[in-house]
Amino acid sequence: MSFLFEKNGKNSIIKLMKILKPIFYDNFKCLADGCKNSCCSAGWQISVSKNEIAKLQFCGDDSLAKNENFIKCQNEFCINLLDKICPYFGNGLCNIVLKKGNDFLFDICKNFPRNFNQTKSHLEMRLSIACEEVCRLLLKQEKFEFKTENNHNLMIKTNDKNFETRQQIIDILQDRTKNLRQRVESVNTFVGATMPIFEKSIFEKLEWLEDKNKKLFCDLKPLENFESKTFSEIQIENLFVYFVFNYFANGSIEFCNSAIFKFCTFSVMCCLSLADKLEKSNYESKAIDAMLMFGREIESSSKNVEIILENLKWKLLMLLLLVVVQVEVFWLVCLQKMVLVFVFLIKMKALQKNCLLLEMASVIWQTKIWAVSFITNT
Ligand code: SF4
Repeated sequence: MSFLFEKNGKNSIIKLMKILKPIFYDNFKCLADGCKNSCCSAGWQISVSKNEIAKLQFCGDDSLAKNENFIKCQNEFCINLLDKICPYFGNGLCNIVLKKGNDFLFDICKNFPRNFNQTKSHLEMRLSIACEEVCRLLLKQEKFEFKTENNHNLMIKTNDKNFETRQQIIDILQDRTKNLRQRVESVNTFVGATMPIFEKSIFEKLEWLEDKNKKLFCDLKPLENFESKTFSEIQIENLFVYFVFNYFANGSIEFCNSAIFKFCTFSVMCCLSLADKLEKSNYESKAIDAMLMFGREIESSSKNVEIILENLKWKLLMLLLLVVVQVEVFWLVCLQKMVLVFVFLIKMKALQKNCLLLEMASVIWQTKIWAVSFITNT
């Protein structure tokens, strides 16, 4: 069992941090040279610190410390990829690890595919589907479950509403007494979301999308009932829980719950739809390749995730605006009807009392109402 200790600056009190992670987190083991889609050849920007470069330069092996292996990018340094491949990558293995061991490896490489979400109360450890072994582990789970460390396997108790909401969503998604479409609709009602709309324009706006895959993404059709030819219902459920766990209650994402859940549904639909389009002999390879493609092309770029979320958010605002306008029109019509009844009553009174003045007043009212009605209808 591993614990994370946090130092409180003032009193130097050591506080025990709780850790929350998927139950299969510790089962992850890099496939190394057995990996068919190594992250070292994914063409990603690999950021490294000055200190890490300096450490390598003093490691005593000149072949590892070449200046041309690094370039300046924005305010930091990055590894200079050769045709999208890391210069330290050879025969499916990392030369830094082979020659100098794990200690000299850059943090970003040591961590991948793990990522962390630090909250006030605990640390969340996650795995990304941008790694094929993680996809395999996720597909194998009978149920996507979590475990905590230092808390006797109880779910973390926190007063944060976001965490409670996330847990409620996961519970709804894992309620197998209903079919998936019904579960997703229940969550939609719970968070006030709608089914996402697939538009070519969303994919055209993305910053990181390889040209060869652009057409594939642009032609995707949503599987509204989640009837996939590749994934089983349990696997789709796991995929949903994966996205909900990663994107809800994530400190770095500032979007409303409805937009985030819409993004989760959008992501699941993309994976299902991609898998059905891929030409592979077996279902597992199709599912893994589709998740991997989504993980690498979309999820690995925070900019891409933000663009999709923005797109979904604006659609939601427009919907809200439409609802507000409709409610306004409804009240205007109600008001108009009430005034008509009022005028009718006055008219009746006028006729009854033969009062010319009241009758004239009612005619003026009537004219006014017709004018309002004309403006509203036009
Ligand atoms: S993609 Fe995953 S399994 Fe493959 S080399 Fe990278 S970390 Fe290892």
